[in-house]
Amino acid sequence: ATLVARRAAAWCRWSRVVEVVRGFEEGCAAPTERLQRVVNSLAVEMFAGLASEGASKVRMLLTCIDTLPNGSEEGIYYVIDLGGTSFRVMRLELGPGSMVINKKVEHQPIPEKLTKGTSEDLFDLIASALKKFIEREGGKDDEGTTLGFTFSFPVRQVSISSGSLIRWTKEFSIEETVGKDVAQCLNEALARNGVNLQITALVNNAVGTLAMGHYYDEDTVAAVIIGAGTNASYIERSAAITKCRGLLTNSDLMVVNVEWGSFRPPQIPLTPYDICFNNYVKCNQYDQAFEKMISGVYLGEIARAVLQRMAQESDVFGTSVNCLSTPFIFSTPCLAAIREDDSPDLRVVSGVLKEHLKIQDVPLKTRRLVVRVCDIVTRRAARLAAAGIVAVLQKIGRDGTLCGTTKVRKIRGEPKRSVVAIEGGLYQGYSVFREYLNEAVDEILGDEIASTVTLRVMEEGSGIGAALLAASYSSTRQNSA
Ligand code: BGC
Repeated sequence: ATLVARRAAAWCRWSRVVEVVRGFEEGCAAPTERLQRVVNSLAVEMFAGLASEGASKVRMLLTCIDTLPNGSEEGIYYVIDLGGTSFRVMRLELGPGSMVINKKVEHQPIPEKLTKGTSEDLFDLIASALKKFIEREGGKDDEGTTLGFTFSFPVRQVSISSGSLIRWTKEFSIEETVGKDVAQCLNEALARNGVNLQITALVNNAVGTLAMGHYYDEDTVAAVIIGAGTNASYIERSAAITKCRGLLTNSDLMVVNVEWGSFRPPQIPLTPYDICFNNYVKCNQYDQAFEKMISGVYLGEIARAVLQRMAQESDVFGTSVNCLSTPFIFSTPCLAAIREDDSPDLRVVSGVLKEHLKIQDVPLKTRRLVVRVCDIVTRRAARLAAAGIVAVLQKIGRDGTLCGTTKVRKIRGEPKRSVVAIEGGLYQGYSVFREYLNEAVDEILGDEIASTVTLRVMEEGSGIGAALLAASYSSTRQNSA
């Protein structure tokens, strides 16, 4: 009788664990029809964001970029690319037709304490890395040498070479920098560190990627980043922008930095495991919902919260599960490795649980459940990102509907080809994520329109694009001087 009772109790515990996963799956459901409504809501927010400052959570920042590189950019350019867990220093040599004839890139991790320390320490780290890089490369920091700064956080710009930080994202939090001109912060750090360079172009990574994408293919209308954070930029008609008209030039276009990370899709409720709910996350609490459901800084953490809940329901992971309560211990690369494990005995899953969470001897059926959790997190993220992409296409009339309100076919004759440039580790390095995203774009658009849309990866787009922009804006300046 005790054996039977024990088995019944074990079965009960197991069903509670399965129930946790089932409930999570239900909460993350994003069927096509719901995604279509997410598309419409985001497109509406984008319209509002262009109408007046503060009218929408989606900021629709004007970038002061009204022309895109055209192939006449030549010379040697340096770029600093800051936006995730590491920063890059890059030297590019552009030859005839702006062909990249030489490229040298160095990655340097940013110690976590510097992402929460002082402005001076962060910018000094970058400036001294650039100094050493230039010395090693035997390059010069002559006045006039052009420097692009890819800064992947929301910035309010009044010129191409300056802009004040609106807020930090992606778990950076250096309060004193908020409101300051980040180009000036870096220029001052360069001077402190004896580097004789000044920033020519301050560029968001989504904007850099758009510049590079457009340079390679003129049908590129938008760019999307899906990496540590997520965002989009696109080419807007000046006539469609009613706010900040003083910033608009004679050009009939302006690149807009959407900053879609702060969008909160009303159709997709947050689950109890979503980061917005967890009060240990100090950065933008209850905010940046879209980003926190989609991007690399957060996906592993959502999965960890679900695994922790499973462990609270039962001893599915054994008794030593302390690690599971440590925020951010389970990274998105771990989540991807688990989801992509196709060995019959889920060997990789065992390895990751053991190495990263110190959990050993997890039975196969529990490992299967862990894979399912990672799949649910991935699928919702990829499908939401797909909805974001279609919303941008809808905003510029490239999704086959008329402003998303009616299903009237707008396109007569040959539909226009639209290319969306994409950069970011999650899309480039995680094939399941990429497949889910591509599939959802096709579902939302339908085959006919989907066949006119190409998602094109732009390797190093944010850095190379910033160099191209720095180059084209320094020559514009020289010409107008
Ligand atoms: C930032 C964007 C950036 C994106 C991708 C977000 O957290 O707000 O400016 O483009 O991350 O790096």
